[in-house]
Amino acid sequence: MTLEQFRLDGKTALITGGNRGIGLAIAQIFVQAGASCMLTSRSETPGLKALLEQEPDRVAWIGADVNDEDAPDRIVSATLKRFGRLDILVNNAGVADNGNFHEFTDAQLDFVMSTNLIAPFRIARAAIAPMLKQGSGAVVNIGSISGYVANKPQLQVAYNSSKAAIHQMTRTMAFEYADKGIRVNALAPGYVVSDMTAGGIADAEWNHVWTANTPMGRFAEPVEMANCALFLASDAASYVTGAILVADGGYTTH
Ligand code: NDP
Repeated sequence: MTLEQFRLDGKTALITGGNRGIGLAIAQIFVQAGASCMLTSRSETPGLKALLEQEPDRVAWIGADVNDEDAPDRIVSATLKRFGRLDILVNNAGVADNGNFHEFTDAQLDFVMSTNLIAPFRIARAAIAPMLKQGSGAVVNIGSISGYVANKPQLQVAYNSSKAAIHQMTRTMAFEYADKGIRVNALAPGYVVSDMTAGGIADAEWNHVWTANTPMGRFAEPVEMANCALFLASDAASYVTGAILVADGGYTTH
């Protein structure tokens, strides 16, 4: 049955930033689809607590800052210890910081690049080992339309660069592991309602620029990104690797 290929029964997913926003929506949809999920973030949230209470056998959480040196091994080991396998990695945790290129500080640059590029690289590297042993796996990196366009009105050269790099990391990993049963894809969202965009959505001018440049004329809900991540993570995408799935309401069409 075709629809069964979209299910994740018996699979285990590790989702970074799974406590809120897009990451929590991905966790909720993956759990609905039958997966067990190890979620990781620095803080606990009401949404995370509700999911843990709802599915105590299939959802677990481990506190970690993705930038900590031991975080990749710690969160991958915790997943294997709790659920016995690791089938899906969703590299979702991310941060944004705005500013002019010529005034952007080293500290800002390090904050964005370490969280959005170096940490996902190190976490994927740790997750690949058990996937190679199993001979199967799927990695979903959360990129962005910012990997393609210079956003407006906000200036965010480091963020845009980090997302372009994640797209290229995705393609290169996909090439390397295509014959090992491991698929690697990215999702490139447009503007999604979350804490990351809350300030811009609340700002009348930014809100207008963002929606006016989105042909659908609206922001996405996190669940609309989670549905795309489910496709990429599931066997329904069995021949899809190295793809950047753009889900942006048409933003990058013009
Ligand atoms: P939010 O700001 O709502 O959530 C960010 C998530 O990342 C939180 O779960 C946060 O958890 C986690 N996180 C951030 N820094 C760290 C860290 N150092 N260690 C561990 N976890 C961390 O953002 P979104 O849900 O909107 O974004 C999710 C992903 O989607 C990001 O990669 C973002 O770049 C991308 N994206 C978002 C778009 C949007 O319009 N919202 C558009 C395109 C891409 P905690 O703070 O508790 O640690």
